Amino acid sequence: MSAALPSLAETIQKHGLAARKALGQHFLLDATLCGRIASIAAPLEGRQVLEIGPGPGGLTRALLASPAEHVTAVELDRRALGALEELSAAYPGKLTIVEGDALRIDAETLLPAPRRIVANLPYNVGTPLLIGWLHQAALFESMTLMFQQEVAERIVAAPDTEHYGRLAVLSQWRCQCRMMLRLPPGAFSPPPKVWSAVVHLVPHAEDPDPALMKSLEKVTAAAFGQRRKMLRSSLKTLGNAEAILKDADIDGTRRAETLSVAEFERLAVNELKKAGGPAP
Ligand code: SAM
Repeated sequence: MSAALPSLAETIQKHGLAARKALGQHFLLDATLCGRIASIAAPLEGRQVLEIGPGPGGLTRALLASPAEHVTAVELDRRALGALEELSAAYPGKLTIVEGDALRIDAETLLPAPRRIVANLPYNVGTPLLIGWLHQAALFESMTLMFQQEVAERIVAAPDTEHYGRLAVLSQWRCQCRMMLRLPPGAFSPPPKVWSAVVHLVPHAEDPDPALMKSLEKVTAAAFGQRRKMLRSSLKTLGNAEAILKDADIDGTRRAETLSVAEFERLAVNELKKAGGPAP
């Protein structure tokens, strides 16, 4: 680092970064906390880090101070660019700033492997961002992501528990998912209404046939769309529910929340076969 950086509070003041609700802006100003989040993503030696929504750059500072090879930070709010340029100058060649919408980036072309995502996500787009990454999870060695705690619980939930649903099945089918850290509203400026939590996801090697992922999305949408109903009834929208369940060796009187991820995978494989897709 070439020169001492101003405090984050000074940075926010200097660049007029009053938080905007529409952009899900809740900033982390505590350097120790930012360092803890960066360390969850370790080891970062030789890694390319993708950060979404750096804002004034608290977490970015921790990532730049880490042994990561390079950080690419995608930010939608133009007002933050000046603050990020100052960080870039303090760590010459280590930070690439991309102005734009994280929902529209192509991570594969944006940064080379080995890639790790580390982000305090804007809550309004956290789930769609995760679902998009799950479709190409093998691009990443890991994803260390802060969500609203309720979303984080839905990612790591086990069958037969309150939060188990579509997001748990899709996430756990593609990744090993662990709850790492819970943070109270007061950790952020301005404080959100709810607690937040960091989940660490490690994708399984190789992405499956995209058609199988689509099938799993379809099956879980049908099953959890009517989660109180028996599967033989909730899966009717797929056509052929009885046959799909029978081939997957799953009792049609069970309800969605009792099925393991492996059982959902069997349903997706059979649904794909019935739909005439390639056998995975
Ligand atoms: N990383 C900073 C921190 O931890 O203090 C800010 C986190 S704040 C929860 C979310 C950030 O994401 C904001 O800086 C916001 O401007 C940015 N953001 C919101 N929507 C975005 C999008 N679609 N693409 C990229 N960045 C976005």
